[in-house]
Amino acid sequence: MSGNDCIFCAITSGAIPAEIVESTDTIVAFRDIAPKADVHVLIVPREHHANVVDLAAANPALLADMAAMAGRVADAQCNGEFRWVFNTGPRAGQSVFHVHGHLLGGSELPWGDA
Ligand code: 5GP
Ligand code: ZN
Repeated sequence: MSGNDCIFCAITSGAIPAEIVESTDTIVAFRDIAPKADVHVLIVPREHHANVVDLAAANPALLADMAAMAGRVADAQCNGEFRWVFNTGPRAGQSVFHVHGHLLGGSELPWGDA
């Protein structure tokens, strides 16, 4: 699934709106529509890959650039402290099959101290 079929391709291309936090030529960070923490930002590459494993195999430098963006966003919004979650597969909770890292920060983090 990609292009017109993919909600995150639509957001990263600007075809549908989102609350953008930071964007570069290759990556867009935007707020999750249903936040589960004080800070809940999705770090999404413009390239379509189904999940983080596929992305890491196809373009590891892009995954490294996503980590750098996560660090910048967290520095600005939650003192540089955050969780970065990649749900991978439907039984792990993945519902959008365009790779995205959930940046979670602030005082109320889900999953306790896990
Ligand atoms: P997943 O369940 O695949 O790990 O995460 C998908 C995330 O995308 C969910 O947390 C969901 O709230 C978010 N999401 C789904 N559709 C939209 C949308 O149209 N806009 C934004 N900003 N977030 C979305
Ligand atoms: Zn996509």
